[in-house]
Amino acid sequence: MAGKTIFKRIIDREIPANIVYEDELCLAFRDLHPQAPVHVLIIPKTEIPSVAQVEPEHEATLGRLFTVARKLGEEFGLSDGYRLVVNCGKDGGQTVDHLHVHLLGQRALAWPPG
Ligand code: AMP
Repeated sequence: MAGKTIFKRIIDREIPANIVYEDELCLAFRDLHPQAPVHVLIIPKTEIPSVAQVEPEHEATLGRLFTVARKLGEEFGLSDGYRLVVNCGKDGGQTVDHLHVHLLGQRALAWPPG
């Protein structure tokens, strides 16, 4: 594999991040350029580049991303709701090739997205 992604370097503690949750399968940290008052990225520790590379063996890990999203939504007090976003590939706006779920909340979010 080519060089490590920025998210793999965060997992490996080679660069700092504002980590808000960690378990054996995933890590969650504040987005460097928040698009909402709460903007957290939830990532698997397994290196899956994007949804386009997801396999059945990843199902338990990917399910964990959602239970962590629910837990963080509660912890951050997002009782009015929040949005989960997974960008995939160039047209999806993905810029980091390590699958991640954006958790956005604490403001009303428009739809449709740009
Ligand atoms: P995406 O465009 O879906 O690939 O999202 C990548 C996200 O990673 C963007 O929202 C960036 O602001 C965020 N990001 C990039 N580098 C870092 C970093 N070192 N720490 C935290 N978030 C980052």
